[in-house]
Amino acid sequence: MPDAPSPENIVWHEGLVTRQTRLEKLGARGCTLWFTGLSGSGKSTIASALEAELVNRGVFAYRLDGDNVRHGLNAGLGFGPEDRAENIRRIAEVAKLFNDAGAVAITSFISPYRADRARARALHEAAGLPFVEVFVDTPLEVCEARDPKGLYKKARAGEITGFTGIDDPYEPPERAEIVLKTAEMTVAEAVACCVGEIL
Ligand code: ADP
Repeated sequence: MPDAPSPENIVWHEGLVTRQTRLEKLGARGCTLWFTGLSGSGKSTIASALEAELVNRGVFAYRLDGDNVRHGLNAGLGFGPEDRAENIRRIAEVAKLFNDAGAVAITSFISPYRADRARARALHEAAGLPFVEVFVDTPLEVCEARDPKGLYKKARAGEITGFTGIDDPYEPPERAEIVLKTAEMTVAEAVACCVGEIL
């Protein structure tokens, strides 16, 4: 493989369209909704319903989902701390691009570490792009009882190691803009809560 080019030879090329012009002309609203929570907490379910609701309302919304992204962009990354961090870093960069292009980018990843989520937020804030952290706050017992993909069962049996909530930590957000307690609310209520925050 050729060597990576040195950074001083890579120069940012400013476009002719400002973000403001893009949003006005396209009638768009760029924003990132960053879902975080345990496996089985309801991120994908709510994110999918939210994307459908927004698109039905004519809002350009696009969902980036954990497993889907790992099939493509992040194929080859594992679940150790460094790969998890790189996974989140790339997703944050992609969400930022969608957001800048005028989409409501909806990301649905466990993103268990506070520092990784803080970096995603900082990346957006540095570019003046709205970032909304959505904590899908579902107790571990509820997630484990749901076990939609059978992963908790495997983790308990020791067939999967480093599983968030079992033998890898989940660091809950301290200042999420939205907290969804899915054990006490329906999917429709959770969607309405997110829509109310951004529209
Ligand atoms: P995650 O993406 O966080 O891993 P999923 O959305 O794949 O979680 O799975 C959540 C499971 O919980 C689904 O089977 C969903 O139908 C179920 N569920 C039950 N009640 C709710 C609720 N109020 N909100 C979201 N999901 C719920």
